[in-house]
Parts: sequence; structure tokens; C-alpha cells
Amino acid sequence: MSSNQIVIKKKSPATRCDICHMSDQFDSDTETCLRCSNVLIPASAIYSPPTMDVRPIDEVKSFQQFASKFIAYSFLAMVGSIFLTILFGLFQILPLAFIFAVLSFFLGGVFIISLGIFVLYMAGTLLASLVQNIYDSLRARS
Ligand SMILES: [Zn+2]
Repeated sequence: MSSNQIVIKKKSPATRCDICHMSDQFDSDTETCLRCSNVLIPASAIYSPPTMDVRPIDEVKSFQQFASKFIAYSFLAMVGSIFLTILFGLFQILPLAFIFAVLSFFLGGVFIISLGIFVLYMAGTLLASLVQNIYDSLRARS
């Protein structure tokens, strides 16, 4: 027996509703839920064709939101740090100017690297959807 086989050791009847995931109104003998017995389930929910992209859309969107926020904040932090460097330089407070110069250097690095990763990610996503569209149109034609 290979190690990636799944062995079912015990099978037990369902104890909760598949729709609302609650057990309070669920009858395990008839496998019906009083709460959900009248809910209409669209056929698409029961049968959904296999898709190539397994990631949920909102997960992708939240990553994009997080990444764009992160890039925007690192840009603002870099600009603020550069501004403080110039300000402390003008007032001849050189230790602070030096600290903020180093800080703005690192923040600039963070900004450039995260922007680069985000651009690569977006380009990859666009390329993937382009390939998907070409694949779909080729399949529709045949
Ligand atoms: Zn239910």
C-alpha cells in the first residue's frame, strides 16, 4: 500500500446540515434540516464544472488591496523620511539627518522591491487570464 492512499476507518451518519452547518434542527435519521428544507439550491451549486483557478476571487482581491496599501504606505513613509532628512539637514541637526537618510534608503528599498513584486504579480495574473481566454476561445471553436 502506498503512503498517499486514504483509508476510511469509520463511517458515521451525518450529524449536521450541509447547508447551514447547524445540528439543532437537523434530523440525522432522515438527514433533513427543518431550517433549510425549503431552501432552493441552484443547480450550479450542486454541480460546478472544474475550474483551473482554485483561488477564490476575494482572496486575490484582498491580496491586491493589501499589496497596494503596503506599497502606498511604504512610499509615504519614504517621502516623509526624505523630507525629515532634508529638514534636519537644513537645521544642521546632522545625527538625526543621518538616521533619517539611512531610514529613507531602507524605505526606498522596501518600496522599490514591493512595487517590483506587485508589478510582476499583476503581469503574471494578466498573462494567466490571457492564456485562459485563448484556451477558452480555442475550446469554444472546436
Ligand atoms: Zn440547515
